[in-house]
Amino acid sequence: MYCRDYRDYMDIVHVASELAPIAKVGGLADVISGLSKALAKKGHQVTIILPKYDCLDYHLIEDLQVLQKNLPIQENGITIQNTLWSAKYDSLELILIEAHHPRAYFEREKIYGEEDDNDRFLFFCKVASTYLAKHPPKVVHLHDWPSAGCALFLKNTIRTVFTIHNLQHQGRCAPFNLERLGLSYEEDEMRDREYDESVNLLREAIHKSDVITVVSPTYMKEILTPEYGCGLHEDLIRNKKKIRGILNGLDTDYWNPETDKFLVEKYNLESRAQGKKANKSHLQKHLMLPESDQPLVIAVTRLVPQKGPDLIHFGIEKTLELGGQFALLGTTNDPNMRAEFQELSAHPNVAIRLDYDEPLSHMLYGASDMFLMPSIFEPCGLSQMIALRYGSVPLVRATGGLKDTVFEGKNGFTFDIPDNKGVAEVLEKGFAAYQTEEWQTLTSAGMQANLSWDASAEAYLKAYVL
Ligand code: ADP
Repeated sequence: MYCRDYRDYMDIVHVASELAPIAKVGGLADVISGLSKALAKKGHQVTIILPKYDCLDYHLIEDLQVLQKNLPIQENGITIQNTLWSAKYDSLELILIEAHHPRAYFEREKIYGEEDDNDRFLFFCKVASTYLAKHPPKVVHLHDWPSAGCALFLKNTIRTVFTIHNLQHQGRCAPFNLERLGLSYEEDEMRDREYDESVNLLREAIHKSDVITVVSPTYMKEILTPEYGCGLHEDLIRNKKKIRGILNGLDTDYWNPETDKFLVEKYNLESRAQGKKANKSHLQKHLMLPESDQPLVIAVTRLVPQKGPDLIHFGIEKTLELGGQFALLGTTNDPNMRAEFQELSAHPNVAIRLDYDEPLSHMLYGASDMFLMPSIFEPCGLSQMIALRYGSVPLVRATGGLKDTVFEGKNGFTFDIPDNKGVAEVLEKGFAAYQTEEWQTLTSAGMQANLSWDASAEAYLKAYVL
């Protein structure tokens, strides 16, 4: 369809591996659903193609029905059939791909972290691209390495926008993985720069897509440097003209202290002091922390090297030294790290929960005074935005999207060098400002920040046509 203007009606298809809340691992899921809803609200037709995972939350989707029964894919000379399902989630159309593959690619308990992830998602991309070639939309929007393979299979037949959410994961696979799906490995741009015998799916998508977007303006600049470019900075520099930094928004309907069903007392800008007090005292009881008015610092995070777990560990000790309380909600499978954090919970003013717990995360944002996020790198980060919206003052390292959303002394405190000294400084500043007039200014600025998807969705629409 011909599109004169970015405001004209468009049919947009996202090919993605996650969608909040039905298939969520991290922030990527939130972005796909937040952006898609914002685009649909502007009157566009938005469809999301996902694998039909066994672990998908089927309670939340409606109208699940077969869209196409037999979609054959040749793999190594063998025909593998696929069923495509249509369904609805909120204002969004979903297409779920069920692969009748002998290796049961999506009948697993988790979304990623399987040994054959590359094979699984490459196959998913092959099926999605085969369908899209027959039903081409105005634009196909790909996200990170799991859908990068579509850029390879579609060969620029449809306008393709590729978003880098995190450059660290690149989808490396053997040339054989491509060859058995009918593609030959000949172009230099497919080759991994570090492992010469491997194909790098993310690198290939950087070269093949029409537009590349990066999830924050600062991360966009950072990944053009060797320090943050994860080996791909030269490829990105070569494609600099087609790269745009678009800051993620937040689903402000879902993350709203005025309506949040997990808060014992809902609050807004005016009632924040009273509201947060009630939530804090409820949380303290829930986590068996002493009920007191000392500053409560939290972290809600995956405990992976990117998020600076050592710095969080130090932050907990420093908080205690300053006379505060700390609650950590984190996920990790590393037994040593679990033990190191659990040791800290012997202190009465520390609560450690090493699970994924959505309700508790809301309670923590609602109850806390400060939110610590000392990331080593951070493409965008949603957690600091949630903290701002819930009147919890973010203490962050000024990198990537953290630098674009948290401003020193205005709505939070920042530090540059990711070390203990930086963490100590922001905590000291936070404790010094706690419950002073400056505190009111900081929390009021945070709660009033415009974090919605509206402006970013408009920037994506421009990327789709211009
Ligand atoms: P990333 O996507 O790199 O993990 P983001 O800050 O972009 O980081 O998004 C993290 C999202 O996951 C936020 O919504 C945060 O509240 C949530 N989250 C992280 N860890 C947990 C946890 N252990 N329990 C519940 N929610 C979590």
